[in-house]
Amino acid sequence: MAIRLRGAGIRDFVVFDKESDIGGVWRDNVYPGCGCDVPSHLYSYSFARYADWSRAYPKQREILDYLHGCVSRWKLEPHLRLNTEIAEARWEPQERLWRLRDTRGTEYTARTVVCGVGQLNRPRYPSVPGRESFTGTQFHSAAWDPSWPPEAFAGQDVAVIGTGPSAVQFVPEIAPHARSVTVFQRSANWVIPKYDYAFGPGSRWALRNVPGLRLALRGFIFSVVCETLLYSAIAGSPLGRGVQKFSAWHLRSQIADPDLRAKLTPDFPIGCKRILISDDWYPALARANVEVVTDPVAAITPGGVRTADGTDHAASVLIHATGFRATEFLSPIEIVGRNGTRLHDRWKNGADAYLGIAVPEFPNLFLLYGPSTNLGHNSVVYMIESQVGYIMRWLRAARDGQVEVAEQALAAYTRTMRRLLSRTAWEAGCTSWYQAADGRVVNNWPRRSYRYRLATRRPRAQDFRPDFKPPSGVPPTDR
Ligand code: NAP
Repeated sequence: MAIRLRGAGIRDFVVFDKESDIGGVWRDNVYPGCGCDVPSHLYSYSFARYADWSRAYPKQREILDYLHGCVSRWKLEPHLRLNTEIAEARWEPQERLWRLRDTRGTEYTARTVVCGVGQLNRPRYPSVPGRESFTGTQFHSAAWDPSWPPEAFAGQDVAVIGTGPSAVQFVPEIAPHARSVTVFQRSANWVIPKYDYAFGPGSRWALRNVPGLRLALRGFIFSVVCETLLYSAIAGSPLGRGVQKFSAWHLRSQIADPDLRAKLTPDFPIGCKRILISDDWYPALARANVEVVTDPVAAITPGGVRTADGTDHAASVLIHATGFRATEFLSPIEIVGRNGTRLHDRWKNGADAYLGIAVPEFPNLFLLYGPSTNLGHNSVVYMIESQVGYIMRWLRAARDGQVEVAEQALAAYTRTMRRLLSRTAWEAGCTSWYQAADGRVVNNWPRRSYRYRLATRRPRAQDFRPDFKPPSGVPPTDR
């Protein structure tokens, strides 16, 4: 967003971040093995395709370095206000601007607010009693204690609660060092191989120098791997059933023990929860010092974890790999729009936004990676670029006044989303972080991601309230 603003010649903007550095999830998550399960050559901005990734799948440090590189290249430092947590944003109708207040009480005003706070930055802990009583070391995967590199686990008995994408990345790193690792699995997941590898000098040279090679690789990953193969699993198509068979083969090929294999076989169709992509998760679980426990976690005790069958599992280190409060969009920021409407009141039964970007009663407020824009099959960077392009068009209009999406546009959009979501694997009988309290999937975009690019390519003036001037370039037929 900041890069596009500067590119459009707009200099009067600031970027707030509550932490001391940029990078979001790639700054926060520093657990051993942390990386992205989207291939490197797709996981970058289309206008800043990085040539020199070291591996097929990027690690956390390389992504963070890439983001720092973008900040320098586009001279964004003067715009950053780090260590500044926005607590409140309030629309002032007379002045037609937003009044923001940070946690120290300092106020700022802005014509337009773009929220890019993400979906996965507020850790969720298991809702079982006794967490405070644990006498060993405990932390959440997204708040990894830096004094615990893999070697520090030597001689430790480690308990890991959760078997999602985060656990899948760090358990193989710590298991060879720990004395024992007990993995508490509430649900088994479908896992497909990653086939990760380091690029050799020849490949890196070719990717830097052969014209069109990087673009071709990016196009192949985007269209064949993500939009066709992985999307088929989300859509529950016959090809998706083939992906499930492939995943079942992956399990068989890596786990010889039939009891362990049975524990690791999911009871829902592939795609319902995020598909895990890993070469080393199953081999880690098959190690002699690793145990997979499927009895539900009943309590955390001073000495470890107690399961519902009454067994006490001793642990000296307890790691919560239990995910994030992902459906509480924009929480805990208090956002008050026109007529004193609180955004969190509007969203008390589940968040929704037109194209995941705009909410009625909240003029000149835009969301990046908002409700209904998460993906289970492709790179969210692509979605965010679509949103930025869309917002840029409306910003031209907002310069002259106020932009606000119409209630009927959001209602129609939400109806379409509900209809399409009900056909996806996400609603095929599992629980996941995509669901609001009532079980509705609120986080995800149910179509191929290029459809989102098309939907956001050109704002439709009739979807917005008429008391503002539409941007130039919106043809009269669309008004
Ligand atoms: P997650 O996917 O929400 O997984 C949380 C895990 O904790 C699940 O296995 C869940 O079981 C389990 N759990 C929660 N409460 C529990 C309890 N009381 N007892 C036992 N188990 C419990 O969290 P995550 O692994 O941190 O990943 C979150 C998201 O971050 C991912 O879906 C992904 O979008 C993103 N991420 C991406 C990457 C990447 O490579 N791109 C890597 C890491 C994370 P249930 O399944 O039964 O709920």
